[in-house]
Amino acid sequence: MADTDSGKTAEERIPFNYFKKIPKIELHAHINGSISSETIKKLIQRKSTKEKGQNNVVSQWETTILKGDEKNLDECFKMWDFIYPLVDDTEAVFLVTKSVIEDFAQDNVRYLELRSTPRANPKTGMTKESYIEAVLAAIEEAKTTVPDITVRFIAAINRKYGPADALHTVQLASAIKAKGNGTIVGIDLSGDPKANKSTDFVPALKLAKDNGLKLALHIAEVPDINETRVLLSLIPDRIGHGTCIHPENGGADDLVKIVEKHLIPIELCLTSNVKTKTVPSYTEHHMDYWYNGKKHPCIVCTDDKGVFSITLSEEYSIMAKTFNLTEEEVWDLTLNSIDYIFENDSVKNALKETWKAEKQKIMSVNK
Ligand SMILES: [Zn+2]
Repeated sequence: MADTDSGKTAEERIPFNYFKKIPKIELHAHINGSISSETIKKLIQRKSTKEKGQNNVVSQWETTILKGDEKNLDECFKMWDFIYPLVDDTEAVFLVTKSVIEDFAQDNVRYLELRSTPRANPKTGMTKESYIEAVLAAIEEAKTTVPDITVRFIAAINRKYGPADALHTVQLASAIKAKGNGTIVGIDLSGDPKANKSTDFVPALKLAKDNGLKLALHIAEVPDINETRVLLSLIPDRIGHGTCIHPENGGADDLVKIVEKHLIPIELCLTSNVKTKTVPSYTEHHMDYWYNGKKHPCIVCTDDKGVFSITLSEEYSIMAKTFNLTEEEVWDLTLNSIDYIFENDSVKNALKETWKAEKQKIMSVNK
């Protein structure tokens, strides 16, 4: 926490431009939840020319999406019903992935790990494999349009599709990785935390580990000690949310001990948690417990920047204001995030060099 000698809040002390210009790391971003309003508009246009007679649905999409920041929670959730039918072929997957990367690059994100559940759609001929290929092709192409951002992919398992689908996703990801593709780095477990038991997914997650894929799992979004224990027993490489791990939030001490002993970094998505009401307010966010209280490794992330109408810069700004952080503390949060990426030391060291150079630039401007 910052000293408050100046009597100023972080908001007054740190201009928004600071959050925008510092280099950042994003490690928890779902592709379909991260699509900007502009790209959604393009998808709607594409759809309405392809499928005549869809005008009613299109106008519904437009009224919800164009509300932007004023969306309430129900409307945020409704977004998913609009988004999936818009991204139902490989061309759309490619388009949204590329635009999401470009948005993050615009926000000065220098390293990004995107995640998405590969979906098949027999109507358009899209398979889970071609879905992943479309994502990887977009990442490849973005290297020329936005060369300052490095992007990796985490294949996501959606709990509602069950263990057989999970195993298939891991097999596909492993096969691509085995062919020498270094872009695919991990496996995520996400979706409705009440859908299926965590034990159902253990074989798939263990296989992923054996095949050298890292695990970034949504854990303890809602209180359930046994479910949380199953997933933490795998010693995942990162935890998504981790809202209800500690006893004060319906978790247990032994769960906290596992996280601390293995120093498992936690991906914190403040606005997502507040908007979906898994956390009552920003001040009560469990970042206070883990980051302020325990100095535990934490990474600030957006989760679904499109659905929640947020940028990573804004997320940092809210976090700094809520917990009264200094510029230096904010800087260290982004810098330390480099240590938790699913990449090797040479990539980490190159990023640290970038941070060093950027810091000099920012400091010389401030002189
Ligand atoms: Zn998430």
